[in-house]
Amino acid sequence: MPHVSLLFHDVYVREPGESGFNSPAADRYKLSLGEFESQLRGVAASRADAPALGTDLIAEHTGGASRFLVTVDDGGVSYFTIVADRLEALGWRGHCFVTTDCIGRKGFLTPNQIRELDARGHVIGSHSASHPARFSTCPPDDMWREWRRSRDVLEDVLGHPVAVASVPGGYFSRAVARSASQAGIRLLFTSEPTARIVDHGRCVVAGRFTVRAGARADFSARVVSSSATVCLGAWASWNLKKLAKPVLGSSYGRVADWLLVRNP
Ligand SMILES: [Zn+2]
Repeated sequence: MPHVSLLFHDVYVREPGESGFNSPAADRYKLSLGEFESQLRGVAASRADAPALGTDLIAEHTGGASRFLVTVDDGGVSYFTIVADRLEALGWRGHCFVTTDCIGRKGFLTPNQIRELDARGHVIGSHSASHPARFSTCPPDDMWREWRRSRDVLEDVLGHPVAVASVPGGYFSRAVARSASQAGIRLLFTSEPTARIVDHGRCVVAGRFTVRAGARADFSARVVSSSATVCLGAWASWNLKKLAKPVLGSSYGRVADWLLVRNP
């Protein structure tokens, strides 16, 4: 059965610079607290079940009912200060993907916060070490080093194995899956908007649906209730976006926003 994963980034109370990477490009993915709570309310109203955890998915991703998952990229401090509490109030847990070179920097999680989130039942995973802008274009050895270094840091912080990761920038290639698998990752999330879960050797690869700033309040609810229209729309926009990126250059971001926000 397909499993639908939502992808969030940072959440802020007053301004986007509070958490995570600081750039106009990063800000396009950050939700205000009001936007984030609206998305969660929509999901809670449309699903009776709690989100699944990737650690369960590694063991069992074929057969059974279609589940949904909540994932958050980058390792910004808002996972600790905002996101975790909101998820736990619903009895939910999520996935926190950490850019390990940023641990302890302003706006990012500290080792103690990562340990506490792990103890509270959230899945801590790797989002690479240095967050290369276009991960899939890195040489395979660099990809492997990014995963390996990031896993080592997280395993030192947590004291247990880490086998879940998400791709920075989201773009997927077979080389990305191979490098992750060789570095011991058993479940890898991309940002390709698909509910299909594919085995790549010893690594399971799952797509995700990105919730961006300005998304309709019911975007997540429509995704997790498997609205064929919204899923197909996101898939078509993503593929158009991939084609458009080299052509549009600096205006790419604005056009991508229009495609994904106005026509989710
Ligand atoms: Zn990222």
